[in-house]
Amino acid sequence: MPTGEGTHERARLPTTVPFPTTVPFVKDLHAAARALDAEDPLATYRERFVIADPDLVYFDGNSLGRLPVTTGQRLVEAVSREWGGELIRGWDRWIGLAREAGDVLATGVLGVDPGEVVLSDSTSVNLYKLAAAALDARPGRSVIVTDDDNFPTDRYVLAGLAETRGLTLRVVETDINQGLDPAHLRAALDPDVALVCLSHLAYRSGALVDLVAVTEAAHEVGALTLWDLCHSAGSVPVPLREAGADLAVGCTYKYLNAGPGAPAFLYVRADLQSRLRQPIWGWFGQRDQFAMGTDYDPVESVERFVVGTPPVLGGYAVLEGASITAAAGIGAIAAKGAALTSYAISLFDAWLAAEGFELATPREPERRGAHVTLYHPEAWRICQAMKAAGVVPDFRTPDRLRMGFAPLYTRFVDVHEGFARLREVMRSGGWTRFPAERGRVT
Ligand SMILES: *Cc1c(COP(=O)(O)O)cnc(C)c1O
Repeated sequence: MPTGEGTHERARLPTTVPFPTTVPFVKDLHAAARALDAEDPLATYRERFVIADPDLVYFDGNSLGRLPVTTGQRLVEAVSREWGGELIRGWDRWIGLAREAGDVLATGVLGVDPGEVVLSDSTSVNLYKLAAAALDARPGRSVIVTDDDNFPTDRYVLAGLAETRGLTLRVVETDINQGLDPAHLRAALDPDVALVCLSHLAYRSGALVDLVAVTEAAHEVGALTLWDLCHSAGSVPVPLREAGADLAVGCTYKYLNAGPGAPAFLYVRADLQSRLRQPIWGWFGQRDQFAMGTDYDPVESVERFVVGTPPVLGGYAVLEGASITAAAGIGAIAAKGAALTSYAISLFDAWLAAEGFELATPREPERRGAHVTLYHPEAWRICQAMKAAGVVPDFRTPDRLRMGFAPLYTRFVDVHEGFARLREVMRSGGWTRFPAERGRVT
C-alpha cells in the first residue's frame, strides 16, 4: 500500500510525474483501507456530494458522477430567480456561460489556456464537428485513423464521415485489456492520413494511450489529432499542452459530475482556431451575432465551434462540477485514483482471482485511469447480483465488470466493502439466480 505520506507527496508533484508502481502486500486489507482514508488529502471532498443512501457502494462515477451539493442549490436558484424572475433578461449573464465554464475546464482540469475550451452540444456532435473541420483542413488526404477499441459513438461518427466523403477509415488493432500499442499506431501512419482520432483513456479497460507520443507521430506525417477525453477529463492529467495536441472533445457528466445529459466540451488549440471551419454554421458561432447579418462570418475565437443556444442549466452544473475538480487539483485526484485502483487490484489478487475473474486493466498505475475492469464469463449475471447486493458497477461487453472509483468521493473502505460483497456473491453462488438475457441499458 502506498502510505499516506506518499499520497500527500504525490499530490504536490507536477502532473506528469508517474505514479508509484508497486503496492506492497498487506495482510489486513480492511485496516489498510481505513489507514489510507485517514490520510487521504481529498477526504473532505466527499462531503461536497449528495450521498442519499450511505449503504450503497457506487462504482459508477465514471458513467454518471454524483450530484454536488452546491449544484443542487445553484440549479434551484437559477430556475426560480433567474428563469422565473429575470426571464429573457437572464441572457445578459447566460450568454457568457459556455465560455466561462470552458475557461474553468481549460485552466483547472485540462491544463490549457483560457479561450481554448468551450461548452457545446454532446461529445458525439462535437466529435463530428471537429473531425469534419480537421478533414477540411487536410484536403487531398484520404485516410482517418482510429482503433478497434475506441468508443462506439467515435467509430460510428468517423465511419459516417469516411463514407460520405469517400475516405478510408483505417482501424488499428488494440489489445482489449492492455490498450493501444503506439508501435501499431505508428505503423498505420503515412502521408495520406488526414486525422488520427483516439480515446485518451479506453472506456472498457481503463488503459491510457501515450497522448504525447501519438500526437508527435501524427504530426510527423502531417496529420491532425482529435482526442476523446471522456474518461480522462477529471480523472488523470491530460497532456494536451505538452503534446501540442490539436483538438479534443469530452463529456462532463462522468468524472466532472455535471449531471445526466450535461453539455460536452471541445478544445481547439489557440493557433488553429481561426484556420478551422466547422460544418454546422450556426448563429452562436457568428461574429456580432445580434447584428443578424445575412452571411455567415464566424468569430475568430473558440466560440466559432458553437452552433446554437447553449443549455443554461447544464452549463451551471458544469461550472460547479468543474470548479470542484479544479479546487481539488488534477494531480491529487490522479494520485488518489492510482492508489484506489492499486488497492482494488490487491483485493482482486487476494479474493477474486480464485473465483474465476481475470484482471482486464493494466497493472501499472501510470498506464490506467481511475477504473478497474474484471473479466468473467458470467459478468452480466454477476453484475445484476452485485446491484441486488447494493453495489453499482457496470457491465461492458463482451464479458466484463467495470468498477469506477471516482476519487473525489470514493473511499478506500468503499472499495473494500464493494469487493467484499462481490466475493460473497461468488461464494454463495447468488449470481446464478439472475437471468442471462441483457437489459436495454447495461
Ligand atoms: C461516454 C463517452 C461518450 C459519450 O458521448 P455522448 O455524445 O455524450 O453520448 C463518448 N466517447 C467516450 C469515449 C465516452 O466514454
